[in-house]
Amino acid sequence: MSALKLATYEERYVSRLSKRTAAAQPSFIPKLVCKPSRGQDTLKVGIFAGLHGDEQAGIDAAYELLRWAWNDPEELQDYELHLYPICNPSGHRLQTRHSWRDLDLNREFWSGSQEPEVVYLESELRREKYDAIIALHTDDEQDGLYGFVSGTILSEEVLQPALQAASKILPLNNHHLIDGFLAKSGIIKEGYQGVLSAPPEQRPKAMEIVFETPGHAPLEKQVAATVIAVKTILAEYRLLHAYAPNL
Ligand SMILES: [Zn+2]
Repeated sequence: MSALKLATYEERYVSRLSKRTAAAQPSFIPKLVCKPSRGQDTLKVGIFAGLHGDEQAGIDAAYELLRWAWNDPEELQDYELHLYPICNPSGHRLQTRHSWRDLDLNREFWSGSQEPEVVYLESELRREKYDAIIALHTDDEQDGLYGFVSGTILSEEVLQPALQAASKILPLNNHHLIDGFLAKSGIIKEGYQGVLSAPPEQRPKAMEIVFETPGHAPLEKQVAATVIAVKTILAEYRLLHAYAPNL
């Protein structure tokens, strides 16, 4: 079977899947770890994509970052990168934002949710105690790049240059109100309850950034903008962390 025929077959197959059959499929959340090539005082970063199953750009960007870390381990320097490219496997199979149980998983964290994806990811977040958490998303209703910051005050300092770097590929969202939240130069300091984040009790707090691409832009540009944003986040975080490790 040629690659093209296979793709067509898969497309038809997926479109016929009911939610029940999707749920019956074996399901797992992949986790890929890239260890640093050198350094003792490593910084552990968790990158989470595909928590909304129909947001392909973040998923592709996560795999692109994996290739980068694999091929150029020197560039990772002292980072230990943990990639979770598909956090909502049933939603990804169904090409839906929600999971097969019709839940927005990104509103379920740290609230006693029994959803297996959330239970697993919460246990990972608690066990790994990430220094930084980067969540990759796409917003169909916005026409430019933006992001949410929380955790340490470094988050905003780091997201700003990342948005600048990515704005060479896609425009920045300069609206004062994004998604109902006050924003400045594409940065929102509030956020929804229940989003994927560090455990509430974690100290020192993690740097937390949610990066959003405009869903109607060409996919390859969304992926490229996300990759350059994440690389800039890593570079800037390393610089700032050296000056203020315990903020
Ligand atoms: Zn999303």
